[in-house]
Parts: sequence; structure tokens; C-alpha cells
Amino acid sequence: MPDTVLWFRRDLRLADHPALHAAAQAADGGRVLALFVLDDRLLNASGAPRVRWLLRSLQALRAATDGALVVRHGNPANVLPDVARELGAASVHVTADAGPYGRGRDEAVERALEVPLVRTGTPYAVGPGSVTKGDGTPYQVFTPFSKAWTAHGWPAPAGDPPPGLRWARTVDSADLPAEPDLDGVELPDVGERAALQRWREFRDDALDRYADDRDRPDLDGTSQLSAHLKYGEIHPRTLLADLAGRRSKGAQTFRSELCWREFYADVLWHHPESAREYLRPEYARLGYDEPGDGFDAWREGRTGYPFVDAGMRQLRATGWMHNRVRMVTASFLVKDLHVEWQHGARHFLRWLRDGDLASNNHGWQWVAGSGTDAAPYFRVFNPVGQGLRFDPDGAYVRRWVPELAHLHGAAAHEPWEHDDGYAHDYPRRIVDHAEERAEALRRYESVRRR
Ligand SMILES: Cc1cc2nc3c(=O)[nH]c(=O)nc-3n(C[C@H](O)[C@H](O)[C@H](O)COP(=O)(O)OP(=O)(O)OC[C@H]3O[C@@H](n4cnc5c(N)ncnc54)[C@H](O)[C@@H]3O)c2cc1C
Repeated sequence: MPDTVLWFRRDLRLADHPALHAAAQAADGGRVLALFVLDDRLLNASGAPRVRWLLRSLQALRAATDGALVVRHGNPANVLPDVARELGAASVHVTADAGPYGRGRDEAVERALEVPLVRTGTPYAVGPGSVTKGDGTPYQVFTPFSKAWTAHGWPAPAGDPPPGLRWARTVDSADLPAEPDLDGVELPDVGERAALQRWREFRDDALDRYADDRDRPDLDGTSQLSAHLKYGEIHPRTLLADLAGRRSKGAQTFRSELCWREFYADVLWHHPESAREYLRPEYARLGYDEPGDGFDAWREGRTGYPFVDAGMRQLRATGWMHNRVRMVTASFLVKDLHVEWQHGARHFLRWLRDGDLASNNHGWQWVAGSGTDAAPYFRVFNPVGQGLRFDPDGAYVRRWVPELAHLHGAAAHEPWEHDDGYAHDYPRRIVDHAEERAEALRRYESVRRR
């Protein structure tokens, strides 16, 4: 009977796994080898929180396969042919990768293999590249994309692992490497079981309030599923199937947020260069400042703007930042400090546990005005006004900025208004927001006129 290989990548789960079903079916009663390849190209590009998340997720997957997961270290274009030969495999199965590096890597592996590489499914409900306008061109704007995405639809979840599945245990595995030092970052529970548990808690306790609470960083109002989704510990199809019978505004808004993830993956699929370059090239000419002391203050959460500093410190303490605060901190870097978005995007990818090229770099481009749906460049977030609006009692700021913990209520957002505002050495504002806003608009106008 032919054995097959299931090469895990961003699909570190056993339930709702179409490629696992395809591997078992092709084995036709034979065994499936569960394989993960530690690829230095990806490991070196990932920050410590993501590497630790990955290693813990692999531990969970190894336990879920009763120890059968084989881990190898090396270039997949060398490792896969070796493993397939050692096993005598008839085929290698994967969930298709839609990212620029993954697509190229898979083509190289396919060329190197003597047996077929079979792609089944993607990490998305609708595969990137599948939804296009009537004339075949890609969508550049979210709302029409989301309508076409809904109309396209997606299959039902693939259910439990195939009955009678037998794991191959005849190929040697390397040990998992030691976990990197996280310099104080605390991660939540990792793995498929933790992902499902988090989803169920959120679904039962917070989903109905999501439309109202999702913009409030002082509340536990969002799912915190992003890193679980990033590593495929849960598939969006599972979430969408659960949402299908729910009519609440919260459920609808949550579905729409999942669609943003799919939209950005689609944009990156069509424009792989947009991971690094401006989607709207005219923004490259805007005139930016080199990252200097202001950039360091931003990274370290000491800009003197409490909402910005709280976000940057939340990032360093947890490897996660609330979406509203991601937008405000990103805007502060690009429009108050006039630093190009790529510098900020790299810092986020270094520290975010959910760091994802499509969602991160297009989130940054959206804020910078150079991406899809461009938030008009002249709409500059006011870091104080945003704090007062979305953290009205100052609880979020007090949680992450201890130098302001003595200020009550909304006072935490404006220490300069209080005699004891700087009693605990909170830094003074490094720039004047009104002046820098005007400067950002001047630079923008100069590009528009050209
Ligand atoms: C500058 C910037 C950088 C970002 N970087 C990343 C990143 O590296 N990785 C990442 O997953 N998301 C990123 N986002 C999007 C968003 O901030 C996070 O997905 C969200 O905060 C994750 O928390 P959650 O799981 O509690 O979200 P929830 O509010 O519970 O949303 C559910 C899921 O929907 C998806 N989602 C929600 N909002 C967005 C969005 N704006 N864009 C794309 N997908 C979304 C995520 O998969 C999320 O887990 C970024 C946004 C900005 C503005």
C-alpha cells in the first residue's frame, strides 16, 4: 500500500484539514507521514514571539499525533525528496501557500520531487486569486471584494481526521530546537486545542458585543485568534460555519473582519511586490525622514503620547497589540514622525506573535495612505483624541504605562494638563501633534501637485 507525506506548514491542526484527508485517501489504507521542515529562510525572518509560538504549536501537534510528527531542519527542496525517498512515498500533500516566498519554495520542491506534490485547500476560506472582477482583474477595494467573496462562498469544514488514519513512524526525526528568549513577552496557550477553546469562549461570551466592543482596547472585546489563524491551528472555515446561523451585528462584523484577512492575502497574491513597495507608487516620492531618535522613542513606548506608548508597550509585553492601537501607533510613526511605513512594519513583524506579511504590510499601507481602500492621507489620527474616545476611562493607558497609573480616569491621556502629570518621570511629548500634522499635509500636497 502506498504511504504518503503530509507536509505541515501554516496548517498545524488535525481537524478540518482537507490536505490530511487527501493524504489519507491517496494512501488508501497505507500510512501518512506527518512532516514539518524547519526552514532557516522563514525562521530567520520571524521574530522570537513567532518562533516560540511555532515551536509550541509543533509540540502540540506532536502530542496530537501520538509522537509521530517528524521534524527536519533544512531547505525544503532538499528535505522533501530525501524524506519521500526514505518512506517510499507515492505523493506529498500540502495546504497551498499563497505568500510570495511560499509559492516560489513550493515550485522548487515540486521540481525536486520524483513524486507529485498535491495541493489541497489554502489557509483561507476562499483561496487568494479566486475572486476577481467580471473582467478578470483583481479587486482593489474591500467592499466589492467582500461582496464577491460572500457570493463565491466556501466549502463546509472537513470535519475530524479520517477514520482509520495511521501515522508512519519509520522515518527519523530531529529534536525541536530550544525556544528563543522572549525578553519578557508572555504568550497565551498555543495549539489546536487552545485555539478551539479561545474561539468557543469568545463566541459564547463576547461575540454578540463584538460590534460595539471591538474598538475598545480597555476591554477584552476581540477574539485574539490572530496567531492561531496565522499558524492554521484553526481554519477560518470552522469559524464561518459557526457564524452561519447567527444574525447578530457582532457575528456580521466578525465575518467582515475575517474577510479583511482574506482581502489582504488576495491583494498580496496579485501584487507580491506590495509586501515591500508602495501599492500606490506616488507615495514613494512623499519625502520621509530617516528613522532616528524619534523612531527609537516610538519603538520603546516613550513618545510622551500615552495611547501610543501604551500600544507599543503592550506589543513588547505580549507580542500583540489591539487593532485600534495598531492604527494609531502606525499613523504616529508615518504622519507625526514622517518615517516610512516599512520601518514600522518590520518592527511589528519582529514582535507580533500574529505577524503576517499580508495583514501587517497592508495594514501599514492602509494607514500610510498608499494601500488599497486608502484611508485618505489627510485623515491623520489624533493620538490624544483617539485615546479619549476608545479608552474613555484611561484604563488601557494605566495598565501599560505605570508612570501614569496615579492619574484618574481620562486624565491619564493628558498628563500635561495636571500638576502631578509628570510626577513619575513619564517622558514629555517628543513632537507637537498639530505641527507635525500640518507638516504631513504639506508633504502630501507637494506630491499631489507634481
Ligand atoms: C498596522 C497594522 C498591522 C497589522 N498587522 C497584523 C498582522 O501582522 N497580523 C494579523 O493577523 N493582523 C494584523 N493586523 C490586523 C488586526 O490588527 C489584527 O488582525 C487583530 O488586531 C488581531 O486581533 P484579534 O484576533 O483579537 O482580532 P479580531 O478583532 O477578533 O478579528 C478576528 C480576526 O479577523 C482578522 N482581522 C481583524 N482585523 C483585521 C484587519 N484589519 N486586517 C486583516 N485581518 C483582520 C484577524 O485574522 C483576526 O484574528 C494589523 C493591523 C494594522 C492596522
